[in-house]
Amino acid sequence: RTVYVNGEYLPETEAKVSIFDRAFLMADGVYEVTSVLGGKLIDFDGHARRLQRSLGELEMQSPVTTEELLEIHRELVRVNEVDEGMIYLQITRGAPDDRDFVFPDPETTAPTIVLFTQSKPGLADSPKAKEGMKVISIEDQRWSRRDIKTVQLLYPSMGKMMAKKAGKDDAWMVEDGSVTEGTSNNAYIVKGDTIVTRGLSNDILHGITRAAVLRFAEEAQMKVEERPFTIEEAQGADEAFITSASTFVMPVVEIDGVALGDGTPGPRAARLREIYLEESRKTAI
Ligand code: PLP
Repeated sequence: RTVYVNGEYLPETEAKVSIFDRAFLMADGVYEVTSVLGGKLIDFDGHARRLQRSLGELEMQSPVTTEELLEIHRELVRVNEVDEGMIYLQITRGAPDDRDFVFPDPETTAPTIVLFTQSKPGLADSPKAKEGMKVISIEDQRWSRRDIKTVQLLYPSMGKMMAKKAGKDDAWMVEDGSVTEGTSNNAYIVKGDTIVTRGLSNDILHGITRAAVLRFAEEAQMKVEERPFTIEEAQGADEAFITSASTFVMPVVEIDGVALGDGTPGPRAARLREIYLEESRKTAI
């Protein structure tokens, strides 16, 4: 696989980042994951905008323009012949001469930028979409700026392991009694024709897929309520699902051992997945 590091396209075995890189020492970096369908990028503009916002919140600069970023994404898809999959992008505050809590001077320490592709043939046709996911609930113990997409992913990774050890697929995180989001996705329940999902704040990542799916839901005459919900309310809902760039819309069929409805994916989640894939392919670049 060819990867991109600080201006160069290299074989992955030759790509190097300093041990003083602040992402390695302090998780001082931000990232984006953009999906690829039919060799094209889904929602590139949304990801590029969120990246700028994450960088801005952390007083970091992008080493490349959005146009250059698009070019790099496209070149990696081309050379690695990605048909379905993802592109991972990470920008860090760079590698100063020594470890220090104080941010290095951006004049002397350039950011580090890394991109690589992940080929996932069959991503759009995942069997999980037909089967549905089983989730557990866990306490949300992340920091309180979840709106910034940083590489501090230890707690979400631990949550995923808790789910795996329990024989389930993922964990929904709960704070002050209501669901924030999944370990790497936004969480939704469906009651009748109404889709309920937590509103945007610093409590959750502002999902690019979330924005698209809520728009498609309204266009498909479903109602959208942006408000917190509890695990108990979710267990009593007609359906549930998650969204993310790497899973699109994925039905949830069980929460903490309680099956939703008849325990199979619901029609609205299935419909939204269909619309999302169809519409995203149309606007992919
Ligand atoms: N919430 C969290 C915590 C995430 O890590 C992600 C994606 O990685 C999402 C939500 C979904 O965001 P998007 O739809 O932009 O992939």
